[in-house]
Amino acid sequence: MNPFSFERAENVAGAVSAIARNDRARFIAGGTNILDLMKENVSRPSHLIDITRLPLGKIEESGDGGLRIGALVTNADVAYDERVEQCYPLLSKAILAGASAQLRNMATTGGNLLQRTRCYYFYDTATPCNKREPGSGCGAIGGFNRNHAILGTSDKCIATHPSDMCVALAALTAVIRVTGPQGERTIPIAEFHRLPGDTPEFDTNLRPDEIITAVELPAKGFARHYTYLKIRDRQSYAFALVSVAAALDMDGGHIREARLALGGVAHMPWRDTQAEALLSDRPATVENFRSVAEAIVRDAKGFGHNTFKIEMAKRAVVRALEQAAGMEQPS
Ligand SMILES: Cc1cc2nc3c(=O)[nH]c(=O)nc-3n(C[C@H](O)[C@H](O)[C@H](O)COP(=O)(O)OP(=O)(O)OC[C@H]3O[C@@H](n4cnc5c(N)ncnc54)[C@H](O)[C@@H]3O)c2cc1C
Ligand code: SF4
Repeated sequence: MNPFSFERAENVAGAVSAIARNDRARFIAGGTNILDLMKENVSRPSHLIDITRLPLGKIEESGDGGLRIGALVTNADVAYDERVEQCYPLLSKAILAGASAQLRNMATTGGNLLQRTRCYYFYDTATPCNKREPGSGCGAIGGFNRNHAILGTSDKCIATHPSDMCVALAALTAVIRVTGPQGERTIPIAEFHRLPGDTPEFDTNLRPDEIITAVELPAKGFARHYTYLKIRDRQSYAFALVSVAAALDMDGGHIREARLALGGVAHMPWRDTQAEALLSDRPATVENFRSVAEAIVRDAKGFGHNTFKIEMAKRAVVRALEQAAGMEQPS
């Protein structure tokens, strides 16, 4: 780990001015990702700004019937919040499918949004990686890419975004509230994370001098018909090979509205609104679910070791929709 200086921010304005002063400074919240990256020499900030004392640790009802989750609320506190459990159980279930109890007690909402890929080559500084060292190449393309992306890839990077929480946030159309030197702005979750394109070093559209202050959930929480299906190598403590957040608004056996987001398949939570449209105003049938699954993977591309994910994603979508529609018990 390289040497770094440290300060504690006491308010949001102070945190923003501290980060704007030094382009090698980084925030630290729960520390469960940034410290690992520093220990592996993947991230080398010269200055850490501890934001854990900022007043961003509450979950509050917003005026429009939704919820505002402060950026410092831990993953455990979000998952077990009564309002989240009742109105947004999809979010609770997705968070509880991730990491371990100890990690969820430390990990924060803002940090979870910004956690970096688990691509092995990204962590191994002896191998080329365009995300870690732009222009150096990609060890995963043509390498061992079992965990890698099948959708939205580029010839520069095929990494996946590892968060479970963000997949649920994508299905729930959350909005990220941020503050920078120019003031506050909001970023819809669909525009928060990026595809790799030619610049895989940028994971998100957050500017380097901005801080996440909250995640806002709209009033509609799909609390009756939902599931988060996570397929992984081990039952706990493993990142998703493929995950699906499915949320349905149903009238009997008829789907009025559907939201679907996939994890483990792309550089960002993968929401396909065209495929979703195939479900709306249709009966909940396995045939319809299969058509939707085919539509989602229509442009999927495997890279050898991860080609199995294309079939796996299709089956996961069908199964998740069956669970959300009440045709199969959630696993
Ligand atoms: C062994 C292990 C297993 C895991 N398994 C899973 C899993 O299965 N599923 C899953 O989803 N996650 C998993 N995780 C990841 C874990 O969820 C993340 O490490 C955690 O959510 C990051 O939150 P943090 O508060 O600790 O972030 P930190 O490590 O403190 O920060 C992460 C990044 O976010 C930035 N940051 C933090 N807060 C803010 C803010 N408010 N504004 C701007 N920038 C900010 C930091 O500068 C840093 O770049 C696992 C982690 C480990 C170590
Ligand atoms: S997939 Fe992306 S993160 Fe992994 S080695 Fe290639 S460029 Fe780096």
